[in-house]
Amino acid sequence: MLNIVLFGPPGAGKGTQAVNLIEHYHLVHLSTGDIFRANIKGETELGKLAKSYMDAGNLVPDEVTIKMLESEVNKNPNAEGFIFDGFPRTTPQAKALEQFLTSKGTAISVMVALDVSEEELIKRLLLRGKESGRADDANEEVIANRIQVYNDQTAVVADFYNTQNKFEKINGIGTIEEIFGRLCHAIDRYK
Ligand code: AMP
Repeated sequence: MLNIVLFGPPGAGKGTQAVNLIEHYHLVHLSTGDIFRANIKGETELGKLAKSYMDAGNLVPDEVTIKMLESEVNKNPNAEGFIFDGFPRTTPQAKALEQFLTSKGTAISVMVALDVSEEELIKRLLLRGKESGRADDANEEVIANRIQVYNDQTAVVADFYNTQNKFEKINGIGTIEEIFGRLCHAIDRYK
């Protein structure tokens, strides 16, 4: 199995690149942000719980997020591999994912991290807010909080994979095709 963690701050281009990567490597895309948004739209209990955290740009509690992610993996027993997009975002999530994948006889192959300057991120997120209508992209204060949460709680997750020699930093500035090429070049070495 090829299991990829697609990593990077909000607005780095994870969702855009995930679309091309799933097609190229025949993987199942699991975006925790997308799953939460679908639950909010469907007005499920999970959605109700997640909404207040998301609207403020804070993380949904680990216990809830991990349980949801594991259940999504279990829905795809025939997958050739997964792209985890927006997960893990904390070290406890990374540890839980490792344990869970080990129990299934598999593991993360590589974490690819899109590297984009903070100035560029804010520009991209405000633009996305106008186009997508995502509430957490439309407000500059919420964007600032999401970037701070990323710096405080999420950036450290890179160390978890770096110490396992499974970490690749990718320049996230350029055309979609250029960045996709860089990602594939890195991923192919872990196949
Ligand atoms: P995203 O679409 O990845 O930018 O995620 C949008 C929001 O969903 C985040 O700001 C969090 O509130 C929540 N979220 C997504 N993934 C996670 C995660 N792995 N852990 C906790 N909260 C998450």
